[in-house]
Amino acid sequence: MIMKAIIVTPGKAGATLADIPDTPDTGIVKVRTLHTGICGTDREIYAGKLGITRVEKGQTLVLGHEAIGVVESAPSKSGFELGQIVVPMVRRPGGCVNCLKGRQDYCTDGNFTEAGIRGKDGFMREHFYERPEFLIKVGDPSNASICTLTEPTKNIMKILEAINLVAKRSLSDLSNGMAGKNVWIFGTGAEGLLAAAVFKDAGANIMIVNRRPASNAERTIISGIGAGFFNSSTDDWTAALKSTPMEIALDMVGVPEIFEVAIKELSRNGIIVLFGTGGQGKSMQLDGSAIIHMVDKNATVVGCEDGARKHYEEAVEFLERCNAKYGLSNIITGHYTSSNLSVLEKKGGGEIKSVIDW
Ligand SMILES: [Zn+2]
Repeated sequence: MIMKAIIVTPGKAGATLADIPDTPDTGIVKVRTLHTGICGTDREIYAGKLGITRVEKGQTLVLGHEAIGVVESAPSKSGFELGQIVVPMVRRPGGCVNCLKGRQDYCTDGNFTEAGIRGKDGFMREHFYERPEFLIKVGDPSNASICTLTEPTKNIMKILEAINLVAKRSLSDLSNGMAGKNVWIFGTGAEGLLAAAVFKDAGANIMIVNRRPASNAERTIISGIGAGFFNSSTDDWTAALKSTPMEIALDMVGVPEIFEVAIKELSRNGIIVLFGTGGQGKSMQLDGSAIIHMVDKNATVVGCEDGARKHYEEAVEFLERCNAKYGLSNIITGHYTSSNLSVLEKKGGGEIKSVIDW
């Protein structure tokens, strides 16, 4: 048997819709792919620019790490039945102490693999075969489309966990959870908007920052969430920072300058989370006063990537419960067929999240 798959050659630009072998793997769950999301990482791999890209076997890698599918067959006692909607996890454990505990998101030696990125074929194909421990169940089949956003949302759930852990070092912070906390989110991509919704749902006041005006789609989502919006190119910070002090800052784009801005404006005991990597980092000079700000304010800077199984589960729960409440389906701005590979080339105008339907 064969199936269609979008494949890439690491280090080379471009992708191909190819026929690859569909080899049934007995003993594990067979999943028919429904949708795969496209993110900046996919586009870097497509451009041949993501140095960490490596194949699972042979010369090519199946692209795609944001996916949702439906179970077509499952071994008895696997806990999965025909028709179950599932989300596959991206990162697979290596052999370090954290990987062995199911926290490969905190891998200590880097010997993990990631589907569609490094050392494991991804999900931009008609079927994939998966061990049950790497599949997350979606409750309502009608939520399959919105739960395509599970993979990006699980990153936010880990950020929330990290903030809750860090905040314990000061006596009063987060004693009532996120309630009433001011969270400034830099970036209006899918991750930024999902972060806004997750933190709003946790009780925080949200201010979203970008260097340009919000697009129509972004405006719809921002007002659905009930967040404020700040255009840092044209607007003055002073009043906004007075009314909504920056207690927590999330960099969801990976522009280095954001750190410098955020550390200056951060409140005492504040927390900055750096999530985005934005491709190759630019060199940047850090003003020594930024370090003084950090010390004087008890500031914490938290780098954060990936998430564990529990974060995927929290993400599914959140997306199912909050899709209608916050208009999250507006984040998916375009559906494409697998033969339309041009969508992988660059982010389209007005795009937030593009999805390939299988
Ligand atoms: Zn590890």
